Amino acid sequence: MQNTTSRERYDVIIIGGGFAGVSAARELRLLGHKVLILEARERIGGRTWVDHRLDSNLEMGGTYVHWHQPHVWSEIMRYGLDIVSGPKTEKVYWISDGRTYSATPEEYKNKLRATVQRLMRESHRYIPLPFEPLHSPLLKEIDGMTAEEFMKQAGLTQEEYDILHGWIASDFCGAPSEGGVTQIFRWWVFSQGNWDTHSAMISSYRLKDGTKALIEHMSADAKADIRLSTIVTKVVQNRDGAVVTDQKGSEYLADSVIVTVPLTTLQNIEFVPALSLKKQAASREGQTSTGVKVWARVKGRLEAFDALAPGTYPLNSVHLDRYVEGDSILVGFGPNADWLDPMNRDGVEKALRHWIPDIEVIESTGHDWVNDEFSMETWPMLKPKQLTSYFEEWNTPENSVFLAGTTYARGWAGFIDGAIENGVTVGRRVHKYLRAETANQERQHVPNL
Ligand SMILES: Cc1cc2nc3c(=O)[nH]c(=O)nc-3n(C[C@H](O)[C@H](O)[C@H](O)COP(=O)(O)OP(=O)(O)OC[C@H]3O[C@@H](n4cnc5c(N)ncnc54)[C@H](O)[C@@H]3O)c2cc1C
Repeated sequence: MQNTTSRERYDVIIIGGGFAGVSAARELRLLGHKVLILEARERIGGRTWVDHRLDSNLEMGGTYVHWHQPHVWSEIMRYGLDIVSGPKTEKVYWISDGRTYSATPEEYKNKLRATVQRLMRESHRYIPLPFEPLHSPLLKEIDGMTAEEFMKQAGLTQEEYDILHGWIASDFCGAPSEGGVTQIFRWWVFSQGNWDTHSAMISSYRLKDGTKALIEHMSADAKADIRLSTIVTKVVQNRDGAVVTDQKGSEYLADSVIVTVPLTTLQNIEFVPALSLKKQAASREGQTSTGVKVWARVKGRLEAFDALAPGTYPLNSVHLDRYVEGDSILVGFGPNADWLDPMNRDGVEKALRHWIPDIEVIESTGHDWVNDEFSMETWPMLKPKQLTSYFEEWNTPENSVFLAGTTYARGWAGFIDGAIENGVTVGRRVHKYLRAETANQERQHVPNL
């Protein structure tokens, strides 16, 4: 085993080089601190990753951004990046009671608009201030309810139920019977009850040069030392700060540590002293998002469509993303990574044929984030009671060790926006902590006159 203890001491070590880690690093750098990022993968970006597949640059993970997401939008403006959207939808397919239907987007939306907007407006009762999710005492009443339970008591027709079930399964990237309804309310509340605004916010606009361009700009400004392919296994706090150890036995020293690894993977790092029992329990529970994102190149130029199916199907939502040469590139989401392997062309074709029986998949692809040891989930979506049980605890440091990441964000938790929001705010908290520590040490060294 190689053991190369780095004698260089840092103000802050950040574990994880995704959007939260890089945002925290840049903030700390602006405040004059010396920062080291330790990243397990051979690249930064975490759950955002642009890869060249199907003859196109594809986002394997986080993709969509919107101007109503204030943190990511401010970064897009800061670095002068362009956004693009896919072709305008011409047809919508849905499956109800085992039968497939289709209509124009207008017909489809008119059919459902009143119901969808009635439900969306509910969110405002429980979360009147989107960036203060625990503000209303009413939230406690509903935080134990699953999204499926909420749908069952919402007075929906079978068709409305089936459509919403697919839509919400896709939002959870998991089963609506496992996800907390308050997590869905946290998404809806930003749209102020408007369905079109909601759709635009979560799945319409992406960065023209990909998320890679954004994180590289932010990382250049962070000017942190970055060690890639460095898997952290242990964090020990002592009187001087902390010692972080990687899988090869190398040690790194700092006054403070920010841990940005995804919540479910937190349990893979040993902490001495141990993290609070609540933090440990939350990591073991994990989140709802254990599904899959799939890309498929299909034969010919299809008309641009959106497709939905209930959460019992291997794919719940699919849309046409772009055209490449004479073919169409589709992107879809399913609720269970065990039900569909994105690399399995036949399986993906079969899943798509529920909507379009003669569709021909040339090649399909994707990344299995759930079985990836450095994520173990897709985008974070909370289970019932996790918001009220853990939100404050996650944002409470353990002496010199702080958690950061999109899960712990106040606003757009689960999104790139949430990762930036929480990275920046935790960076500021750590700065305050370090300043207080320095003042404390100076007080202790004042000679008695
Ligand atoms: C399929 C998919 C689709 C998504 N779609 C969208 C979308 O359209 N829009 C949107 O806004 N968001 C989307 N998201 C969510 C978004 O990508 C994430 O919310 C965001 O990237 C999370 O950033 P983070 O820094 O909190 O976590 P991560 O990006 O997960 O960063 C954590 C880092 O920690 C590293 N790490 C883990 N363990 C260790 C260890 N032991 N030692 C060292 N490093 C370690 C990881 O490699 C990773 O780089 C999607 C995510 C997925 C997976």
